[in-house]
Amino acid sequence: MRVLLVEDEPVISANIATALSSVGCLTDVSSDGEDAWFRGDTEDFDLVILDLGLPKMDGLAVLKRWRSAGRKMPVLILTARGSWPERVEGIDAGADDYLAKPFQIEELIARVRALVRRAAGQSSPILEAGPVAVDTRQMRVTVNGAALPLSPLEYRLVAYLILHQGRVVSPSELIEHLYGDDDARDANALEALVTRLRRKVGSDVIQTRRGFGYVVDGRSAG
Ligand code: CA
Repeated sequence: MRVLLVEDEPVISANIATALSSVGCLTDVSSDGEDAWFRGDTEDFDLVILDLGLPKMDGLAVLKRWRSAGRKMPVLILTARGSWPERVEGIDAGADDYLAKPFQIEELIARVRALVRRAAGQSSPILEAGPVAVDTRQMRVTVNGAALPLSPLEYRLVAYLILHQGRVVSPSELIEHLYGDDDARDANALEALVTRLRRKVGSDVIQTRRGFGYVVDGRSAG
């Protein structure tokens, strides 16, 4: 999962980024409203965590501009404690969830997981496709009940495809959601990664649609 974290307090931002990476999320950090708006407008994220009090452009204005431009990614806003008008305004502007500061990082992570699931039309934290089950709370993958050791990149790939099962996912979408800005983004590396993963989970689970991309077909696999 690729998350845009918009927060101008360096300590809070670093804590959230650490927690997100420990649950397998790739995190892009932005610390002002203009930069955040531009990134959210031009790049694909599975989720945005958006502080409302930001330099250059406040979080509500950023959110309203995304929504009026048709950007639909789930957005969780961080609000000041006790400021209910801010929360109401945020939800009216198109936020999907909110958390008041200060918060427990575990609650934030649980809400992040739930929002990403809901956006993909899934309700359970355990995603299944045929013999493969992905436990998004523990980042564990099993095949027919047996644990499968995977690298972080392999985990992100199988979790992304199963979260979006039934839909053909293009290589460029996968590259955008699996690799950080600093990683080598390369179609050949992706193909090698998919090949390796198919050997591990079973080649019938992840299918190739030549010229289009990859799909986990939940119905035929299960
Ligand atoms: Ca702030």
